[in-house]
Amino acid sequence: MCPISIGTSAYKKIKWLLAYDFVAEKGNWISRPDAVERVVNKENNTTRLLPIRFICKSKVGKINKILLAFDALILAKLFKINVSHGKLVYSSECFTLKIALSSLIPEARKLTAEITKIIASNDQPDLILNRHCAECEYNTTCRQTAIQKGDLSLLSGMTAKERSKFHKKGIFTVTQLSYTFRPRRRPKRFTK
Ligand code: SF4
Repeated sequence: MCPISIGTSAYKKIKWLLAYDFVAEKGNWISRPDAVERVVNKENNTTRLLPIRFICKSKVGKINKILLAFDALILAKLFKINVSHGKLVYSSECFTLKIALSSLIPEARKLTAEITKIIASNDQPDLILNRHCAECEYNTTCRQTAIQKGDLSLLSGMTAKERSKFHKKGIFTVTQLSYTFRPRRRPKRFTK
């Protein structure tokens, strides 16, 4: 195993089978998978690369798969190869999940394009509190801003789809939403 930082090395020159602390850089993008495995198929004399990420949680989430797809995207761009699979090693038991990335790479590409757009513009991205906020360094600031604005994302039970439906109706804050509530009609038997 060797720690490696790659920016310009040619794919054919690679001799290692497992590299850790891997840094792959292409254009403005940097990917840091925990390791990269080079699998050699002696039968047809081909090699392929698999990005590997370690997760200290007992479950694998969508974000872990997307990050792996991002690693594959950068490796593929860097070496002009196809990176079709990656591995996630998770839980204290070190379970390994091999993941086909073909359907996840377009999603990672779409997200990187969106991020590029946000960085290029001077506009701040919409603030949407979500379940990752607890782990985010901006948690306190974002929550305070959301409270000041009365942002709908404060209502954790509301889905993204429901929120966008309200936005289309011009409802952006919890206060605006509260005006849409009507008291329930009392059943007729109680009105006599
Ligand atoms: S705390 Fe702010 S920046 Fe971090 S995930 Fe939440 S909304 Fe996004």
